[in-house]
Amino acid sequence: MSTLEIRNLHASIGGTEILRGIDLTISSGEVHAIMGPNGSGKSTLSHVVMGRPGYTVTAGSITLDGVDMLSLAPWERAKAGLFLAMQYPTEVPGVSLQSAMAEAFRASGRESDSVVAALEAEADRIGFERKFLERPLNVDLSGGEKKRNETIQLGVLGPKIAILDELDSGLDVDALHDCSTRIEAMTTEDNLGVLAITHYNRLLKQLRADRVHIMVKGRIVASGGPELAAELEVDGYARFQGSDDPSRLDPLGDVDPFADPLV
Ligand code: ADP
Ligand code: MG
Repeated sequence: MSTLEIRNLHASIGGTEILRGIDLTISSGEVHAIMGPNGSGKSTLSHVVMGRPGYTVTAGSITLDGVDMLSLAPWERAKAGLFLAMQYPTEVPGVSLQSAMAEAFRASGRESDSVVAALEAEADRIGFERKFLERPLNVDLSGGEKKRNETIQLGVLGPKIAILDELDSGLDVDALHDCSTRIEAMTTEDNLGVLAITHYNRLLKQLRADRVHIMVKGRIVASGGPELAAELEVDGYARFQGSDDPSRLDPLGDVDPFADPLV
């Protein structure tokens, strides 16, 4: 049983505060979804949890099973059991998926001879052609193929907690079904904990969320069960940004922290 705990997380980039006090607890086997308008800080949260350079954490903590993640390098966080499927997977010319995964196995003391079989099994499981496994990582792959590549890595590495940043963007309906079904299976078979950032309830049809959180302007303004995602599909975010429910009011009111200061 593992737990990722994010407490009162504040983070800035270039002097602008993007995350303004995030609290989230994700345990093994749980699926948490984060939804929210563009620019609300969802990807920033995923980057800060994984340790991407360029962000300044100004307050708060991130721990995995009580171990401080903020003091670790990204690769150490990965070794500790965190995984990020990026919204825009990076192309790495000259390095195949196979060699990247073999290196990851070696770094964590696992037998790298088993990588090829593990990759092939994962590729077969989501209906991905094996020829892609030998290609340079993400180079000349379509958006959907990159996301399937990320799902294969997730399956092969078997982390404790996975953050999926818009895994559904670019996937066609069949690939979306295959990937989300595979990840749902990991949550039950391997007790994977998931933080799924998404705009669409359709991802959550197979990958069933236990909790849905809505992020607006760097804060979680509402949390609920899966019904919240279904409501959003009908009503959009207006009521979470407006004033019809005082409990959901943003204390900064109309102040837009992302507004251009020169305007
Ligand atoms: P989301 O994923 O919710 O759409 P992001 O986390 O990507 O939002 O972005 C949140 C805000 O931070 C946006 O206003 C975006 O322009 C800003 N931002 C993100 N990355 C940078 C950066 N490298 N430099 C300056 N601003 C950034
Ligand atoms: Mg994003």
